[in-house]
Amino acid sequence: MDQFILTVFLALFVIQFAIEFGLNELNLRQVEKSSGKNAIPEAFHGKIAAQDYARSIEYTLSKARFQRWSALYGSAVLLIVLLSGLLDMVDRWSAQWAGSFSFASYSQGIIFCGAVGAILTLSALPTELYSTFGIEAMFGFNKTTVGLYLSDKLKELVLGLLIGVPFLLVVLWLMDIMGRAWWLWAFAFIVAFQFLMIVIFPTFIAPWFNKFEPLREGELRRRILALAEQIGFTTSGIYSMDGSKRSAHSNAYFTGIGKSKRIVLFDTLIDQMSTAQGLAVLAHEMGHYKMKHIHRMLWVQVVFLFGALYILSLLIGYAPFFAAFGLTPSNHGALILFSLVSGPFTFFLAPFMNGLSRKHEYEADRFAAITLHDGTAMEEALINLTVKNLSNLTPHPWYSLYHYSHPTAVERINAIRQLSL
Ligand SMILES: [Zn+2]
Repeated sequence: MDQFILTVFLALFVIQFAIEFGLNELNLRQVEKSSGKNAIPEAFHGKIAAQDYARSIEYTLSKARFQRWSALYGSAVLLIVLLSGLLDMVDRWSAQWAGSFSFASYSQGIIFCGAVGAILTLSALPTELYSTFGIEAMFGFNKTTVGLYLSDKLKELVLGLLIGVPFLLVVLWLMDIMGRAWWLWAFAFIVAFQFLMIVIFPTFIAPWFNKFEPLREGELRRRILALAEQIGFTTSGIYSMDGSKRSAHSNAYFTGIGKSKRIVLFDTLIDQMSTAQGLAVLAHEMGHYKMKHIHRMLWVQVVFLFGALYILSLLIGYAPFFAAFGLTPSNHGALILFSLVSGPFTFFLAPFMNGLSRKHEYEADRFAAITLHDGTAMEEALINLTVKNLSNLTPHPWYSLYHYSHPTAVERINAIRQLSL
């Protein structure tokens, strides 16, 4: 049976790899074909300089060519971790190490998960470093210094120890003492934990990495306050963030629930946009709030979590699941193994989640255009963002259908033009 499980896993692994590698190749070809000035989409005629368009093509191609290697490398790392006996070795080593502590089985679990986490994090470093200090720097986007990069990594490690270890301990403890219904208890705990994190993250964790300040006085702020009042959004939740200390890319997002909800505009975005464009971006983010998009996404995740834990509860008592990857059955082993092998079994869900996310983006665009009685400001904001970020104007439709959480700028502009305002 363990041979069968391994075969199914490998078959799905190859299918996922082939689909994602193939989509990247399709996208590459499409963008190469679109490199001529004549291929600039109609919505961008007269809005993007020929040299900016050429740069956006070069940037997209550089990322897609690098993606070939990082996909191969990432897959190789995962297969080595799963099939080389490494997990079993780490497990034995954790048991030896934990033997000297009280609560040896929990200590072993924590050490095991920490060690696997460290192996995966370290092995992801080369691609991460090349992407940040290679490609992003080449196109003038990277502003992260080596010092900042190291301090970010250190902070992430501290957070992992401070939040991750207690979280893992509770889950392992529930698995240990709650009998067959452990997964229902774990489900309740993880959902509560997630909601707590959504509240804590914007107010306590994100400020550790970035400076958040109320928008500075001026016309943009005045008009935003008026808009927020009209819509019923508490204006204490609108911030500017110093994104420019890491990257020249610009963005805006809406996060949090209840009192912790906030709209965050990158300083790079505020600097590059006119007041009308900035206001349109803000109206779009308020649209996400008004239409409860965060809530809907959270519910979908809760349903997925419920299903995942149920499946894990079945696998945990099934010895061939562990034997297929050369591991001795244990609670911590089940957690790690489950998270490592789940990709090929769930990758087909991602396009559906992206589809839902794209639907939300259209809705927020429409909300912004209708609220402001003006679609052109939103259009201009999208064009501005796309040009400044050198975003791909001509992705292959299958590629964007699979990977994009936002519709392409051209799709969004066309949708806005079809509204009767
Ligand atoms: Zn949005």
